[in-house]
Amino acid sequence: MENSPLKVGDASAQESKKEEVKELVRMNISALQFKVLKQWGFARASLLTLPHGDVRTPVYMPVGTKGAMKGLLPKNMKDDIDCEIMLANTYHLFLKPGEEILDREGGLHKFAAWDKNYLTDSGGFQIVSLSDLNEVTEEGVTFESHIDKMKFLLTPERSMEVQNSIGADIMMALDDVVPPTITDADRLEEAMHRSVRWLDRCILAHKKPEVQNLFAIVQGGCDDDLRKICCDEMIKRNTPGYAIGGLAGGEDKEDFWRTVHTCTQLLPDDKPRYVMGIGYPVDILICSLLGADMYDCVYATRVARFGTVFTRNGEIKLRGSSNKNQFIPIDSKCQCYTCKNYTRSYLWQSFTRDSSCLQLLSLHNVYFLLDIIREFRQAILDENVEEYMTNFVTDYYITEKDGVPQWVKNALKAGGIDMS
Ligand SMILES: [Zn+2]
Repeated sequence: MENSPLKVGDASAQESKKEEVKELVRMNISALQFKVLKQWGFARASLLTLPHGDVRTPVYMPVGTKGAMKGLLPKNMKDDIDCEIMLANTYHLFLKPGEEILDREGGLHKFAAWDKNYLTDSGGFQIVSLSDLNEVTEEGVTFESHIDKMKFLLTPERSMEVQNSIGADIMMALDDVVPPTITDADRLEEAMHRSVRWLDRCILAHKKPEVQNLFAIVQGGCDDDLRKICCDEMIKRNTPGYAIGGLAGGEDKEDFWRTVHTCTQLLPDDKPRYVMGIGYPVDILICSLLGADMYDCVYATRVARFGTVFTRNGEIKLRGSSNKNQFIPIDSKCQCYTCKNYTRSYLWQSFTRDSSCLQLLSLHNVYFLLDIIREFRQAILDENVEEYMTNFVTDYYITEKDGVPQWVKNALKAGGIDMS
C-alpha cells in the first residue's frame, strides 16, 4: 500500500496544512441532513437524509463485511428487514476486491447491488483486531494481511482514498485505536491526540465531501477529561457527524454508559452521534436513551451462527435439547420471516444439518435489533419512553436471578428513568 503521507515534522508545512484544514472547515461541506423530530429527555427520534435515502434514527446498522450480509441477500435486507443503512469493512474491501475493481465498477453500491446507504469504517480497528502484525507510528498503521502476509501501511490519506473508491455515504476517520481497558495513561492520551491529528489529515485527503460524509471519532478511553478534550477538538473540525469510539472492548459497564453519557452531552445537538461496536439489545437502547443515534456490531450475526438468538426475555441457545418440544416461535412478538413461519423445535432439529437454518437465525437476530430500536423510536414520538424502557429491561432480565442489573438502573436514572 503506497501512500503520500504528510511530511511529519516540517513546521511550515504543518502550519499551512492547519490553515487548509481551517479553510475546509469554514466551507462546511456536508452530504447529509439531520432533523430531530422529537426529543424525550436526551433521547431523539430523528431523520437522517443521506445520498442513498432516508435513515430513521436511532438505528442499528447490520455489518455486511464486504458489502453484503453473510447468508442474507440485499433483497432480504430491503424487503424482509427494511434496512436503510449497512456497514461495510474497508480493510476487507481493500484486500479484496481492491480499489481498482471498485473504481472500475463505480463503487460498492453498484458492485454489491445495494442501492441504500453504506457506512464504511476506516480500516484501523480491523487491522488491530485481525492482522497478525501491526505497528502504529505518527505516519499510520503498518500491518500484515491476514490473507497473504503482504505488508501494508494504512495512513489517514490511504484510508480516505480507499473509502472514496468504495463510495460509502458515511466514512470514518482513521483513528489510533487502543482498548478501553488500557492502563497506560500516556498511551491513551497519545492515541487521543493522534486521532485528532489524523482527522485533520483525513479532512485534507477526502476528495468527495459533496457526496460522502466524513465522521470524526472521539477517543479517550474511559477517562472523562480526555473525552472532553477530544470532543472539543473534534467539534472544532465541524464534521457532518461524530462517532464515539473505543468502547465495547471489555470495559466495566458503568464506565461504558458514563462515557457515552459524557460524550453525548458534549457533542452538537444538530448532528448524528454514532457509538461504534455496540450490538447488545439493552446497550443499544441505553445509548439511545442517553442521546446517541447510530450503532453497529457483528454480534447479532456471529452468535446466530452458533445458534444463539435474541428474545424479549433475553438470549436463548437453540441447540439445547429443551427446544425439541417447543412449538412456539423464537420470540412471540417478533414479526420476522423466521418467527412467522418456524418453531423453535424446527430450528433446533435443522440447526446442525441445514445451512438455511443459519440464515433464518441471522435474519431473526438482525430483524430483532432493528425492531426494538424502531419501537424505541416510536416510544419517543409517542412520549412513552419511560414505560417502554421499564417494561423492556424488566422482561429482558426476567430469567436472571437478580433481575435488572444495577448498572442498567444507574444508566436509566441518568437518562431520566428511576427504577430503584
Ligand atoms: Zn423473529
